[in-house]
Amino acid sequence: NQNRKYLQKVVEGNYTESKESPIFVRDNPLYAYVNIMYGCNNFCTYCIVPYVRGLELSRSPESIYKEVHELIDQGYKVITLLGQNVNSYGVDGKFDVTFPQLLDTIAKFDGDFEVRFMTSHPKDISDDLIEVMASNSKISKTLHLPAQSGSNTILKAMNRNYTIESYLNKIEKVRAAIPEIALSTDIIVGFPGETEQDYQATVELIKKVRYHNAFIFMYSKRKGTPAEKFENQVPQAVKHERINNLLSIQHKISNELFSDLVGSRIRVLIESKDENYLIAKAQCGKVVKIEKPVSASLGQFVDIKITAYESGNLIGKAI
Ligand code: SF4
Repeated sequence: NQNRKYLQKVVEGNYTESKESPIFVRDNPLYAYVNIMYGCNNFCTYCIVPYVRGLELSRSPESIYKEVHELIDQGYKVITLLGQNVNSYGVDGKFDVTFPQLLDTIAKFDGDFEVRFMTSHPKDISDDLIEVMASNSKISKTLHLPAQSGSNTILKAMNRNYTIESYLNKIEKVRAAIPEIALSTDIIVGFPGETEQDYQATVELIKKVRYHNAFIFMYSKRKGTPAEKFENQVPQAVKHERINNLLSIQHKISNELFSDLVGSRIRVLIESKDENYLIAKAQCGKVVKIEKPVSASLGQFVDIKITAYESGNLIGKAI
């Protein structure tokens, strides 16, 4: 509610900067998050967000640009544009700017920074957005695209408004335009009515797309949502079995993808150091240890060559 009141002020032009504004709570000197919109119009049957945060409300592009400029000047290196569904930015018709246009403008600002965004609803990923991502070097080559399930029956029961075929079609387009993209997703297992066949469709999806990361959750009832009242709830033991199986499949895929990076060059942001390494993060969020000595300091982007993948960490050498 506090965020919404703040955003309402921004939209109405009555906003004055204040350290109390929720978005100013930033405890990492390198990463900043900027709300570009608030609320959601989608009403997925398991989710409480539209009921508690209200319908979509876009913030004015001018106030977003101003805030991002200030963050770059303050030395933030990774700026993440936030919204429940960033792709519907501007759809409320208050401002004549779409999300791809907003992103394109920010990606052309001067300064040494990267811009990311989340979350994207699969039904709203547009060709324009893919083109903007592909053509701007300051836009992180990562995409979090929550699939939730691989079964059309379950997607319908969730009210997700896309089919798995249309989802895969968008993944194909993204990969054709940005071959190096690191994809991540959210999956819910054990949604009411999920049969073994539905679950296997999700397993197939995970194996087919090969995400770098998947955030896999067991369905649990949210009070006040339609799915809370669905009668065909999946037994807890079945949910446990399904999540454990899916986590181990995903773990194997992630390890294979990160191992495949050995020998390649990537750009990382140096975040800290220990006795032997500088500790950095890749765009996909993976920790990378860079062998010393390195003529770069904390808060700098560096190009490195990945030399190994050990114990869940990438090891690299500065180029
Ligand atoms: Fe909106 Fe996301 Fe909740 Fe669906 S899951 S209603 S898209 S916030």
